[in-house]
Amino acid sequence: MTSTQIAETNNLMTGATYLDSLNDGREIWFDGERVKNVTEHPAFRNAARSMARLYDALHDPALKDDLTTVDKFGQRTHRFFAPAYSADDLAKSRKAIDIWQRINYGWMGRSPDYKAAFMAQLAEGHSFYDPYGDNALQWYKKYASQGLHLNHVLIDPPLNRAKGRAEVKNVYLSLDKSDDKGIYVSGAKMVATGSALTHATFVGVNSGTAARMEVGRDEDMALIFMADMNSPGLKLISRPSYELKANSPFDSPLASRFDENDAVVVFENCFVPWENVLIFRDVEKTKQFYAHSGFFQRFNLQAATRLAIKLEFCIGLLIKGTEASGTSQFRGVQAAIGELVAMRETILAMTTALVSDPEPGIGNSVVPRLQTAAALRIYMTNAWTQVRNTFETVLAGAPSFTISSVRDMHAPELTHIIDTYYQGSNLDGRSRVKLFNLVWDSLYSEFAGRHGLYERNYAGNKEQQRLDMLRWSTVRGDIDNSRALVDRCLADYDADGWVNSVWK
Ligand SMILES: Cc1cc2nc3c(=O)[nH]c(=O)nc-3n(C[C@H](O)[C@H](O)[C@H](O)COP(=O)(O)OP(=O)(O)OC[C@H]3O[C@@H](n4cnc5c(N)ncnc54)[C@H](O)[C@@H]3O)c2cc1C
Repeated sequence: MTSTQIAETNNLMTGATYLDSLNDGREIWFDGERVKNVTEHPAFRNAARSMARLYDALHDPALKDDLTTVDKFGQRTHRFFAPAYSADDLAKSRKAIDIWQRINYGWMGRSPDYKAAFMAQLAEGHSFYDPYGDNALQWYKKYASQGLHLNHVLIDPPLNRAKGRAEVKNVYLSLDKSDDKGIYVSGAKMVATGSALTHATFVGVNSGTAARMEVGRDEDMALIFMADMNSPGLKLISRPSYELKANSPFDSPLASRFDENDAVVVFENCFVPWENVLIFRDVEKTKQFYAHSGFFQRFNLQAATRLAIKLEFCIGLLIKGTEASGTSQFRGVQAAIGELVAMRETILAMTTALVSDPEPGIGNSVVPRLQTAAALRIYMTNAWTQVRNTFETVLAGAPSFTISSVRDMHAPELTHIIDTYYQGSNLDGRSRVKLFNLVWDSLYSEFAGRHGLYERNYAGNKEQQRLDMLRWSTVRGDIDNSRALVDRCLADYDADGWVNSVWK
């Protein structure tokens, strides 16, 4: 080892240490009761185990090289948890995201690599947060070295979008007071996906929320910080659990293990130590951090890689479903499947553009090109509606030709009925019911409905996505280029004929 080389450390969690770390006294409310240990509670247990598998993969000798790297501090970490310094680094990060996402078939969008889109950049961009820049750097080190799982809350509760943030101060998150130990905050934020299974929540604002903030008015709400999940005064109010409602893996093969519970985060005089604060009472910085951080460009790489796998899964479902129904050779059915395949290929190709045509990020890092990421976001958030539409028209009513629960499979009186009447073209009755239960959980169950809502909304409201596209293209000069292209064409001619001598 030369004097410039740093000794490698590997403190990445395993599945077991990850599960242990969640039993930390956090305050989660579910069904009128405080959850004692989230990893054993039937509403969260299997989702926690699905997440734990990702941590075990980090230590699998067969996957370790593709999944992990050593960062500039000598810490072994997931490749996407470290900044990328070249297109090659981004391509390797995509591969690592792909490996993790495949483990859960693309059905857990908020695996720990999602927030790595933001956290990795703190290694390079920590000084942006000065005078709290060192906090940002320490958080990067802690995050990357252990492979922490963070959720984030960027959105205010849907109370009154027509009012300024300060006018809704009793509900929106704001500062109560600060002292030499830290800050105290109260208010609610929506909605912290997967938060019950994370180590900390990143509290910030997205582009839409920042646009509603004003200097001189919103200082008490201009706060960006990390809150450990067991912070005093932090409460998670969970939505219903589809995992809990799942009777069996046979009935609910996805909901029973991949339900990333979304929760409202309520802060009541919650204490946040200074070392967790990144921005304090600074409206300008709060408005800038989102665009500056590289989070936007990078989260779209994670999200698109994940969605491509989910689509791959759905293509498989559609092909197997149409084969079972004996419709797979029909021309219209094949055309519809072809369109779904094209959708997946488009998303994959756009991830290739994201990794192979990057732009400078903060420090020495590179990040995917902003406009490509913005266009991909719009394409992706439209995609799921189209997937659902294809299933509804191509598989039509076949998923509803089913039984009430797995218990019917064990009722001797029903054996010959299922064997005879439920069979498919190429499947016995039991296998056909099993396949279509998976279709149901993917597209039509309550779990699936939430996925539809997620895909449409997780990246911001529909209009804001398009406004961001236009604003960023304007700032980057693309819109001026469009104008110039038309102006040059207009200058070719006038009412007297051709101005440009080529056509005279
Ligand atoms: C399943 C799920 C999981 C989620 N997970 C997370 C998470 O982990 N973390 C997180 O921070 N968020 C999360 N979200 C929230 C998500 O980011 C928001 O739902 C999304 O940004 C849209 O914001 P909104 O729901 O507040 O809609 P709004 O922004 O209120 O939009 C509603 C409608 O009002 C219009 N509108 C809003 N403001 C204006 C205005 N000023 N002028 C004109 N029109 C306006 C919009 O165009 C839209 O048509 C999640 C959402 C879902 C559904």
